[in-house]
Amino acid sequence: MAGSGQSTATLRLKVGNLDIAHPITVPNAAVPATEVLPALQGLVNAVVGATEADLTISCRKGCAACCRHLVPISRTEGEALLALVDAMPKERRKAVRARFASAEAQITAAGLAEPAGRGDQEMSLAYFALRLACPFLEDESCSIHPDRPLVCREHLVTSPAALCSGLAQEGVTPAPVPKLSLAAQRLQDEDGSWFALAMLMAWNRKPRPPARRRSGTEWVQRFLKNLSR
Ligand code: SF4
Repeated sequence: MAGSGQSTATLRLKVGNLDIAHPITVPNAAVPATEVLPALQGLVNAVVGATEADLTISCRKGCAACCRHLVPISRTEGEALLALVDAMPKERRKAVRARFASAEAQITAAGLAEPAGRGDQEMSLAYFALRLACPFLEDESCSIHPDRPLVCREHLVTSPAALCSGLAQEGVTPAPVPKLSLAAQRLQDEDGSWFALAMLMAWNRKPRPPARRRSGTEWVQRFLKNLSR
């Protein structure tokens, strides 16, 4: 269905044990990948909702141990979050940027600004040991909840919440949410490259090629191709 410069279609996906039918609306024009992110966020929300329907999820507002983990984000999500910060009122933007600067300084001082030969698991554990709150965490709640990264949406647990604070994550049982974020991560960078959310401002200081523009349908096709890999 097309109209108003947008197209809507119902995506029918089989992911994990789930059969998902979800309508998504994307722009017809050639746009940066960030423009289709809201559609993918809605799709991930639908997959998470279908997964948790049969489970007892322990996660609650104000329980934010997971917001001290390394949150891997892609260029697309990074660019969307930069725009979100830029659009904040001046005082709030200043406070958020100050938290990013503080986080970056602590990560750099700990020698975790680059993987330096560490595997993903080793890097994640070393990062979690810093107990560094996400710069978007306020009063132990996500201050950008509607715009939070895809991996934040996908991370839910069924084990007691108290276990999530343990350094080794012993006994933590993640809900089996299919990781659509991995397909979204390859929208612009086909190698699936990522960086830690807390290093967003540092990442933005590095040069990168101009963002490609494609129609919304083309971006969704790329996402679906990545999903089928
Ligand atoms: S973006 Fe929000 S949900 Fe994700 S780690 Fe940061 S505070 Fe937590």
